[in-house]
Amino acid sequence: MNIVNGIPISKGCCKGRIFIIRAENESTIIKSTIKPEEIEPQWNQFFNAVSQVKNDLASLSNSKNPDEKKIFESYMLMLDDQIFINEIKQEFSTKLFNIAYIVFTKYQQAAEQLRATNDDYLKQRADDICDIYGRVTRILNGTARHSFDEVPQNAVILAKNLQPTDAVALEKKKPLAIILEEGGPNSHFAILIRNYNIPAVFGANSILKTARNNEDVIVDGTKGIVIINPDQKTIDEYSEKERKELKESRYYSTLKKQPAKTKDDVPVLLYANISTPEEAETALQNGADGIGLFRTEFLFIKENRFLSEEEQFLEYKKVLQIMKDKPVTIRTLDIGADKVISSTDYKNLHEENPLLGWRGIRFSLDNEAIFITQLRALYRASVYGNLKIMFPMITTCNEVDDILRIVKAVKAELKKEKLSFKEDIPLGVMIETPAAALTSDFLVKKCDFFSIGTNDLTQYSLSVDRDNSHVSDYYNETHPAVLRLINTTVKNAQKHVIPVSVCGEFASRPEGIALLTGMGIREFSMSSSMLPAAKDTLIQFTVAEFQSISKKALNTPTVSKINNLLKRNLCK
Ligand code: PEP
Ligand code: MG
Repeated sequence: MNIVNGIPISKGCCKGRIFIIRAENESTIIKSTIKPEEIEPQWNQFFNAVSQVKNDLASLSNSKNPDEKKIFESYMLMLDDQIFINEIKQEFSTKLFNIAYIVFTKYQQAAEQLRATNDDYLKQRADDICDIYGRVTRILNGTARHSFDEVPQNAVILAKNLQPTDAVALEKKKPLAIILEEGGPNSHFAILIRNYNIPAVFGANSILKTARNNEDVIVDGTKGIVIINPDQKTIDEYSEKERKELKESRYYSTLKKQPAKTKDDVPVLLYANISTPEEAETALQNGADGIGLFRTEFLFIKENRFLSEEEQFLEYKKVLQIMKDKPVTIRTLDIGADKVISSTDYKNLHEENPLLGWRGIRFSLDNEAIFITQLRALYRASVYGNLKIMFPMITTCNEVDDILRIVKAVKAELKKEKLSFKEDIPLGVMIETPAAALTSDFLVKKCDFFSIGTNDLTQYSLSVDRDNSHVSDYYNETHPAVLRLINTTVKNAQKHVIPVSVCGEFASRPEGIALLTGMGIREFSMSSSMLPAAKDTLIQFTVAEFQSISKKALNTPTVSKINNLLKRNLCK
């Protein structure tokens, strides 16, 4: 029996068999066959990747160090080596394997040949080839998609790390649980897994060194524990735990149809976060008062391309019709960082620091045609329900001005085309950067509502990657800096009487519900599976009790003291 402790990601216990998905490092580059019509787009991707690497090198080769400069210049020559490129092309167009795999095998072969010589100079060039074409391959591999064909149904998936795109593909395999060696609790992969209600443990350090395919494993997603080859006593203990969880979920079922309110009967609205229109059905079954966040980028990520206006219109119409007159907040594309589309429709940047790069509204404003297509689809769908539109990753009022200018033009165009739409759709912004929170007194005058995204707000205010298990101890929504940014935003929204909700993961946790209700939040949005438990937290305390907790927390200097305060006050 081997017990590994990790980070609890998604609640629930289960017992199953391990299936390992090997990391896509150099030894496990995805190999897939391609159709002849894919040759040209993939060949273009190869050239894009080469030019990205050249751009990166160009900035590096400005270095004043003559040795470095020489190395980078020789790298540039390697990238322009027509003989080598022709060899790649020849192999790619005859073997019909994906370009990342072909480039990988070709540079490995070339390096091996160089290493086999007795010449020290040539041996060193082998490392250079691996370095330079490794960069190209990583870019290509990053945009390749895993099919997961080999993954069996109902397995416990074990991997080093996985991406949001993988979650969409893996869900079809109905995994019993997911274990990752890396990964953070608020990564988009984690959020999707919670949406799918799959128990999960991340940050299970070094587990891949010992775990084997088909071994029995117990996954405790509630506590963050993985037990490989459990003994009979442990199996019995966990069967008992599963029975208790079932009882708890039966109790939660009784809450689904009850309205959310505090102990002193103050009503609270609980919305669902979704990533496909179909999830709106589950949201209703779980008692959602509406949709607080529809992450539309997942529609695009699933297809790995940008959807047409008509395709998007049908998706938005579907969710609005399912929700009838309940509010549906649809967020425009938030691609970038870990949410990528490897489409040739737009320039796929290779960014050294994508979390601080071209994501969210920055992407939409720089790709106006894609943005306009989405806005047209949203406005056309608006006649089918109670739509609100929300914009992600805002950092300045100028972005809102640009959005409003484009929205105005879109409406004028639709009018000219005699297409029906609702005139006064509320337009809101996500407050998920410290810049937005600190300027919320200005932003409030330009929009109809705020939705606080605590996932990114925490990441950006504490300078901690939400997806990185190595720094997950630094990722604390209960950090006083985060709480103060939220409080500032709430106060500014209240002063100007615009609605403010919270749609980050913090909104679904008891301590988040307590602090946020205390600060004045009355609208929360979360994975539908968390809605009944949120009602359970709300009903146990009065608003005055929540206010007292948050007032104390806002005046407490450290995370540990705030967490102790919460523990003391929330255990009834
Ligand atoms: C957030 O940042 O809190 C949020 C809800 O947006 P996402 O998780 O999609 O980045
Ligand atoms: Mg966000």
